[in-house]
Amino acid sequence: MSNVIPQASPGRVVATRAAEVAAAIQRVTESGRYILGPEVEAFEREFAAYLGVDFGVGVANGTDALELALRAVGVRSGDLVFTVSHTAVATVAAIERSGAVPVLVDIDPETFTMHPDRLNDALDWSARHLPGARPAAVVLVHLYGRPADIESVGAIARNRGLKVVEDCAQAHGALAGKRKVGSIGDAAAFSFYPTKNLAAMGDAGMVVTRDSDTAEQVMRLRQYGWSSSRSSDIRGFNSRLDELQAAILRVGLAHLDTDNARRAEIARRYDDKTGAGLTTDRSALGRVFHQYVIRSARRDELRQQLLARGVQTAVHYPEAVHQQAAYAHRVHIAGGLPETERAVAEILSFPMFQALTDDEVDHICTVAGELLS
Ligand SMILES: *Cc1c(COP(=O)(O)O)cnc(C)c1O
Repeated sequence: MSNVIPQASPGRVVATRAAEVAAAIQRVTESGRYILGPEVEAFEREFAAYLGVDFGVGVANGTDALELALRAVGVRSGDLVFTVSHTAVATVAAIERSGAVPVLVDIDPETFTMHPDRLNDALDWSARHLPGARPAAVVLVHLYGRPADIESVGAIARNRGLKVVEDCAQAHGALAGKRKVGSIGDAAAFSFYPTKNLAAMGDAGMVVTRDSDTAEQVMRLRQYGWSSSRSSDIRGFNSRLDELQAAILRVGLAHLDTDNARRAEIARRYDDKTGAGLTTDRSALGRVFHQYVIRSARRDELRQQLLARGVQTAVHYPEAVHQQAAYAHRVHIAGGLPETERAVAEILSFPMFQALTDDEVDHICTVAGELLS
């Protein structure tokens, strides 16, 4: 095969709805409103309604959404915020930018998300080793589109007086039980980076919450700390969402459920071919398949073989956050992160985007069937 099937392709997704996107751009061009206008307000309303929350506040990107959500739920400088090391580095960068100190918790190897027992261990560890610092919040990452165990983590958080901020950057539309992820914690952060399930053509993000005070606080923080009278009564930032991205995201939102269904269909077809001898990332209830990830002890070799047969893969992510130079000496890792470190050496992400053709999926399944049997 001469053409390599890409692991992700924002351009091919946009191409499937080019006319709708062009019309949205045209609408904004003619409106003369370019930042925090009617398109942003409409998208905030529509996405909040889709999730089943009362408030959505558009911001510049997913990292900002996490930072502003943490600040808005009351995280203060020097507080402890618990999350995983098996995530996009942005999760931990946002915690640090909020002024808090990250404490990293190991994952459940079956789900790649925070293990609730390890959260309890990390809380006990920090009480012994960091007695002066206040445990303030958990950032629960729904990685690869799989809803994390928010019921158990939420119960621990309630017991210990912690806020829960959901990192939903990879889980637009995923369900935890009957509720959409993002509608359960004290606040949630979404990214609309171009490869996400709901994608902008640039940077974009949103904080969602059921709490009016939290929403109000994020609205101030995103624009210089302004109150409604345009006076800065708190210190703020510039993290606004623009009209072009909001208009494009409204187009994407109308297709989100169909897109997620197509991703799930692709995943089911991969499932049939990736069983033998592997711990695979099998379909889980409520999941939206941001990524389809297998584990293999010979991951790097497999990656080369797949590429030689025309299939591009990726690794999300090649290093855990605590293994990266900027963070290695600053984050706390409580009792160690053995499952995280094992996973990082074995994970491999197959091509996963809604515009993959049936022929491409067939080819990937054939190649995977041969290499993995
Ligand atoms: C993409 C992502 C982010 C950051 O979003 P940006 O829009 O790139 O700032 C945060 N957390 C996770 C899990 C992500 O995948």
